[in-house]
Amino acid sequence: SVPTREDHVDVLIVGAGPAGLMLSTWLSRCGIKTRIVDKRGTKIFNGQADGLQCRTLEIFDSFDFAQRVWRESNHMIEICLWNPDENGTIRRSSRIPDTIPGISRFQQVVLHQGRIERFFLDTMKEHGNLTVERGVLPVSFQFDETKAGDFDDYPISVELRTLSDEESTPSQRQQHHKSVDGQETTVNDGLFRSNLVADDTDDLIRLTEANHADQTELIKAKFLVGCDGAHSWVRRQAGFKLEGDSTDYIWGVLDIIPITDFPDIRHRCAIHSASEGSVMVIPRENKLVRLYIQLLATNHENGSKADRSWITPSIILQSAQRIMHPYKLDYTYCDWWTAYQIGQRVGDNFSLRERVFLAGDAVHTHSPKAGQGMNVSMQDTYNLGWKLAHVVKGYSEGSILKTYQSERKMIAQDLIAFDHRFSRLFSGRPAKDIMDEEGVSMEEFQNAFEKGNEFASGIAVNYGASPIIAKEGQIISKPQLATKIDIGKRMPSFKVLNQADARPWHLQELLKSNGRWRVIVFPGRLTEPSNMQRMQMLGKRLEEPDSFVQRYTPPGQSIDSVIEILTVHPGPRAGIELLDIPEAFHPYHSDIGWDYWKVYVDDESYHEGHGQAFANYGIDPSRGASVIVRPDQYVSWVGEMDDYEEMSRFFAGFMRQQFAAKGAVDGAGS
Ligand code: FAD
Repeated sequence: SVPTREDHVDVLIVGAGPAGLMLSTWLSRCGIKTRIVDKRGTKIFNGQADGLQCRTLEIFDSFDFAQRVWRESNHMIEICLWNPDENGTIRRSSRIPDTIPGISRFQQVVLHQGRIERFFLDTMKEHGNLTVERGVLPVSFQFDETKAGDFDDYPISVELRTLSDEESTPSQRQQHHKSVDGQETTVNDGLFRSNLVADDTDDLIRLTEANHADQTELIKAKFLVGCDGAHSWVRRQAGFKLEGDSTDYIWGVLDIIPITDFPDIRHRCAIHSASEGSVMVIPRENKLVRLYIQLLATNHENGSKADRSWITPSIILQSAQRIMHPYKLDYTYCDWWTAYQIGQRVGDNFSLRERVFLAGDAVHTHSPKAGQGMNVSMQDTYNLGWKLAHVVKGYSEGSILKTYQSERKMIAQDLIAFDHRFSRLFSGRPAKDIMDEEGVSMEEFQNAFEKGNEFASGIAVNYGASPIIAKEGQIISKPQLATKIDIGKRMPSFKVLNQADARPWHLQELLKSNGRWRVIVFPGRLTEPSNMQRMQMLGKRLEEPDSFVQRYTPPGQSIDSVIEILTVHPGPRAGIELLDIPEAFHPYHSDIGWDYWKVYVDDESYHEGHGQAFANYGIDPSRGASVIVRPDQYVSWVGEMDDYEEMSRFFAGFMRQQFAAKGAVDGAGS
């Protein structure tokens, strides 16, 4: 059929799960022309992924909706480990904090994926008037590779077809459950959307071929991003594969309001029984509790699907009852259940010529135990979004797009390795004694759990050297000037006070996801004339018409819109006046006057204590340092506070000069 309509877009996103929605949120914030389509007629309303790691909350906060999640979610504070005692009866053997104390200003929380998707949809609508086009299926793909190097071109063509209501809504069986008191409840079929059910994309494409000729649209795109889950259609078009372990596990998941005498039901628990297997207990929002049980390991080398007809909520409940014996467990209300099959796999490629990208489950699949699925998927596109926006806007060379694969493939590989180790420990039978080599030592399990917690938090992510991470190579960083800031990791956060109004802020709150690079200047004490002099010299250099800030800001745009200069001085707050500090650090806008939101101080607040930012960042308050932070909050460079030349060389490595008619420092404020 011939498409009846045609559209040109900068970015076409296929799939509106967590990965797709994070990307469309970024792009809508940056004003990039984006379309996002999903073959399903509705978003999900309950179940699926639920764990949100502290790094994910930091990211949500940078988009201004973490508070909605924080308020609605259940906060996980403690993990209890339960193991069999010498008589084989389960006992609580230890308690450990769920989130490592001090690692972030947030802790791990749980809230189901449907709510997270809701928050994204609201923020996309609010900030970019972008909505998901549902019941829309891509049916063909063409890519003119000869044009891949020209970022003004639209080398990708994708045909989209609008589905009917029935086509976009797979039927969902109802199932009945009888509880101990004889009550019968009805629950939707949890295998709906599960990967135990065969993917219907190809059937849909065939089905729609004949009768939807009038509802086809041709999209010409600069970039295509496949966020279309484990069966990814985009991955197949790009000719890429998932590689990895062929041993698959089936996990049963049950979301219930539990009726139980188990004392730790409101804690996250890992329970190993002597011989009945293991269960993970996840206390949830709205009085719910999620139980994860590994049902069995199957080997389906020939690619056939495991028989799933025997999996029901009762089967999952009965397994949990056996593992948690002698405690009682039942329910009258089941919110959701599922079973799904785990492959521990990573994509061989994350991008085709830096024009087609894959993210989320489309490039990595693993078990749900560490609550990583949704988090790592969103963090993939959090990494990609600003890079695409900067290339589309012409701020950056296309070369920065190569760092998507170099940065995220490593994370995916680490994740699979972690999942491998953890799976064996979680699923194995507890060792009876020290001679029991086949059993899993519970000490080893606890150690792995504690270590795994740092990895799982997302805070440990440490990107390798590249043009945008100056760890080694041409651009010289001086990490010794900020001993507790790691180049390649996200900028840690401590409280600082606004110089103009004394209000305390977490430093990360100043690093909103709006596409700006930041240079954070930490000068030495400004009450010392020599330090003030260094500030003045740096300020003068920044204001020159050919400075890196001026050079990379398009004419007519606010001077802080591409590279924002923030200052945190070591105090005391009352020791200086804002206007003593050179203008480059608090620019003057003709419409709003001085910018009062750029200069901060490390000092005691009236109500929230002292953030001790200099000490916590390992910066000497007599000497200072400067830090370059990427639009996604990762640290690119650390150097002398006034090392203008090195900063300039850093940006010259990948930014594009905007040939601004100079003097254009005015414009709307932030
Ligand atoms: P997805 O959330 O899978 O989103 C992909 C989207 O793409 C979907 O909306 C889909 O409709 C759409 N799509 C797919 N193909 C096409 C196409 N051809 N055209 C258009 N649109 C398409 N993780 C946990 O941590 N804990 C859990 O308990 C848990 N339970 C899960 C239960 C189920 C049934 C499933 C499927 C996954 C579960 N996961 C769980 C995994 C977690 O949901 C994923 O890791 C996470 O959602 C990945 O996000 P994503 O955006 O990459 O992909």
